[in-house]
Amino acid sequence: MRLPNSRRQFLRLSSLAMAIPLMPFPPTEQAKVSIAPNGQMSIQQAIDTIISHIPGGKLDTTVDTFKSSDPGQALRGIVSTFLATTAVIKEAIAKHANLIITHEPTFYNHLDETDWLQQDPVYLYKRKLLEDNHIVVWRFHDYWHRHRPDGILHGFLQKMNWLSYLDPQQENTCIIPPTPLPKLARTFKKKLELDRCFYIGDPRLSCSRIGILPGAWGRGPHIELLQKDIDVLVIGETAEWETAEYVRDAAEAGMKKGLIVLGHAMSEEPGMAYVLDWLKDVLPGVPAWHIPAHDPFVGV
Ligand SMILES: [Zn+2]
Repeated sequence: MRLPNSRRQFLRLSSLAMAIPLMPFPPTEQAKVSIAPNGQMSIQQAIDTIISHIPGGKLDTTVDTFKSSDPGQALRGIVSTFLATTAVIKEAIAKHANLIITHEPTFYNHLDETDWLQQDPVYLYKRKLLEDNHIVVWRFHDYWHRHRPDGILHGFLQKMNWLSYLDPQQENTCIIPPTPLPKLARTFKKKLELDRCFYIGDPRLSCSRIGILPGAWGRGPHIELLQKDIDVLVIGETAEWETAEYVRDAAEAGMKKGLIVLGHAMSEEPGMAYVLDWLKDVLPGVPAWHIPAHDPFVGV
């Protein structure tokens, strides 16, 4: 499904964009690689192949749509990332890739609606960068979470080396040797290479049953898992007045509950790195890279 902003509309408005140095796409050896028996595979065909490998097949309603350029063009290379940031787009251009598979939106809202951005210089800069360089962005959010195992959770557990800790009885739960809450937070910080990691709860809390919801599932799924038999919930992000306050109240009331907050990007990036391994079987022979979007925040 294409977004309402047509290319013509974009070209009319793009004159408002800030002047940016853009290199024309150089012809490369990769551009000539034929990866399908009857010629080059189009980006649309590559995405159809990806979707055919997801249980349940094509969804009628999904945010996993094309966000830019023409998916009818021949696929040259794929970049997977948590977020198609401007920095990631520039790296993809440097690698001569023309498909970015992103987990989260490109234009600052869940549905990637752009009507409200038509005069916005930040949007216009990013849109021009994508269109001038024929970069197709496709979102891989709903389908990747529908994959079994959930692609994001699997990549996360793989990076933690925790796959063997997964509880077969309870979804999104691991059972680990008892570990004090602050030490557990430091383990995540080290293994996921985080600059920041926060926890809520009694530092003496011994954690063995760990609920894991990378990303931003919201207070509903967060609190539902906290209500089950877990010691600590590990998440990407939450509003401070929702899950964070629920756990602070629980700890204050003497209940053995803790929360560890990793950051949204850093908690889901391992799952998008895992896309690269997965693609080796789904689209063998296609040049592909994982480019991390990185934690957006800088501490002082
Ligand atoms: Zn996600």
